[in-house]
Amino acid sequence: MEAYNFTDIEQRWKKHFKEKGVYGCDLSKTHKKYYTLVMFPYPSGDFLHAGHGRNYIIGDAVFRYFRALGHHVLNPMGFDAFGLPAENAAIHKGIHPEDWTLKNIERMKGQFYDWGMGYDWDKEVVSCLPDYYRWTQWIFLKLYEKGLAYRKKAYVNWCPKDMTVLANEQVVDGGCERCGTPVEQKDLEQWFFKITAYADRLLADIAGLDNWPDRVKTMQKNWIGKSEGAEVQFKVEGSGQTITVFTTRPDTLFGATYMVLAPEHPLVTEMVKGTAKEAEVKAFVEKIKKQSAMDRTGENAEKLGLDTGVKAVNPVNGKSIQVYIANYVLMEYGTGAIMAVPAHDTRDFDFAQKYKIHIVQVIDPTDEVKHAWKTSGHLYDPQQEAYTDDGKLINSDFLNGLPVDAAKKKMAEWLDEKKWGRGAVTYRLRDWLISRQRYWGAPIPMVHCPKCGWVPVPEKDLPVRLPRAVEFKPTGESPLKSVPSFVNTSCPKCGGEARRETDTMDTFVDSSWYFLRYVSAKDSQQAFDTKTANQWLPVDQYIGGVEHAILHLLYSRFITKVLKDLGLISFDEPFRRLFTQGMITKGGVKMSKSKGNSVQPDELIQKYGADTFRLYTLFIGPPERDAEWDDRAVEGGFRFLNRVWKLFQELLERPDFKTGGAPEAATEADKEARRKTHQTIHKVTRT
Ligand SMILES: [Zn+2]
Ligand SMILES: [Zn+2]
Repeated sequence: MEAYNFTDIEQRWKKHFKEKGVYGCDLSKTHKKYYTLVMFPYPSGDFLHAGHGRNYIIGDAVFRYFRALGHHVLNPMGFDAFGLPAENAAIHKGIHPEDWTLKNIERMKGQFYDWGMGYDWDKEVVSCLPDYYRWTQWIFLKLYEKGLAYRKKAYVNWCPKDMTVLANEQVVDGGCERCGTPVEQKDLEQWFFKITAYADRLLADIAGLDNWPDRVKTMQKNWIGKSEGAEVQFKVEGSGQTITVFTTRPDTLFGATYMVLAPEHPLVTEMVKGTAKEAEVKAFVEKIKKQSAMDRTGENAEKLGLDTGVKAVNPVNGKSIQVYIANYVLMEYGTGAIMAVPAHDTRDFDFAQKYKIHIVQVIDPTDEVKHAWKTSGHLYDPQQEAYTDDGKLINSDFLNGLPVDAAKKKMAEWLDEKKWGRGAVTYRLRDWLISRQRYWGAPIPMVHCPKCGWVPVPEKDLPVRLPRAVEFKPTGESPLKSVPSFVNTSCPKCGGEARRETDTMDTFVDSSWYFLRYVSAKDSQQAFDTKTANQWLPVDQYIGGVEHAILHLLYSRFITKVLKDLGLISFDEPFRRLFTQGMITKGGVKMSKSKGNSVQPDELIQKYGADTFRLYTLFIGPPERDAEWDDRAVEGGFRFLNRVWKLFQELLERPDFKTGGAPEAATEADKEARRKTHQTIHKVTRT
């Protein structure tokens, strides 16, 4: 009997599949089409370790399964090749990012070949090549035309280590998503995508994403963070100024005993100008500016405030209340100002206690709560704790006796009637900051002319090529600024001397549309062909890590909706089904090269073959959950394949096998095997 010589078998078939192009997908055949896609990798490291394999191997199983069912399956692959990780690695190694990236791509493609992946390489996309980023730039221009790409000066997140700004989505627990360094705030003029214009739709359409994990949907909902409430205006005493706040609790307005402005609020300087407090306020603002968002608003952050000496008028009762500035209010959220109701908000309560501010209870707890307190012996004192639950209004004039919900509505109506405010909705979602002060990204296709201002590069002049000869080490200034041949250009409008934008685009812009490029990968005339895209998209099955929930997955939904509104595609969600695989751990921590616990698939394949690697990866545990890598269990997978091989060899030696095993010759064991086979097929297909 022939032994299980996996090397021979795998080499032979991989070569055969490649030569015959069996993984290619003819896009003109749209009958029973199926588009399966795995999130494309960053070629920032020099090899893929076994932990990376899970994503691709699950995807490959989906591909083969639908092929086996007779579908035309598109299973493409590409590389998310721009961005900080590749640039940082290249700097670290003293190699040009382009060389480093392209070398890694070759290495990874070799690995995919070794693993036996069924990719259609004719449709490969590489986001750092001009034939791709030209269309990323084109998408920028489309957004610009629509007023969805704009420039503004704002406080933005700055990573002092990576020396670039970051989108809000790239700040995790107050630190840089890439390197963990606490993020600082910087006042800069930058390019933004107006994703907030789509907040409502991005939120509403989550309801239709039936085949997305609940976890991802919840994360997106929370990130978009819709809150309903009211805008209220407070007049500043002794001046014509007005402070506008947004509150989700307009019902508690009678309990508002002070106000807080973000130190960056534009009114602050104006309000204190020429007062005794001016210098003190200025010093405080400077101090808070140095704090990270985490230091300011984190769970254990110390609340720092300063009485500005200014007073405002509470519109519902005409009472004069103090105006503070404090670190826990950020300019980026709401209006950058709050009305504080210490009796019914924990943060306000803590602050009021610290600064000895008056506390007025306006919600009387429900009978259930009172009963529970009675049973447990708890004595409620509004001067000692904040009560944040439901109840009925007290100390609130025309709202007295109303339950919270009815009181919110009535107050919004009252504000509207008296012109003191109105019912309003706000979102937590901010516009997407896309400028980066780094080299390795797609240049933003804009030109600044002293006469005409910002002028878009005409479509026919795309791509705006990224020059190769650049000192790309980060300095905090865009490296492209130091390349005169790049910077100096002529104005597309008036022909005069002008300068190019030197920031590059966030790499998440590249990946926000790549799934469309696969169906037109070789097209030099357009980003994608509308008809083909409409036939093949949305992606039927998308697979990737949950860490992209509010980054890539939200951005892709946004760009898809924009393209739909431009009439370029007919669908408004990019991914029909989403699967998020669990990560592979070793020794209880995520497998990674930097932690020194990564397993080299190349060695594994040499020892056991790619099929064992694939089998073990699929069998390691429920695919949606994290799983611990176990070298001994790999051996188990290998033994299993040996048994399958042996069984098949025995079958080959049976005299009736060559004739297909006539039914009448079937033994009881054959029949049992057949039953099991069909039961399994049924189980796999129907459940
Ligand atoms: Zn960083
Ligand atoms: Zn001009």
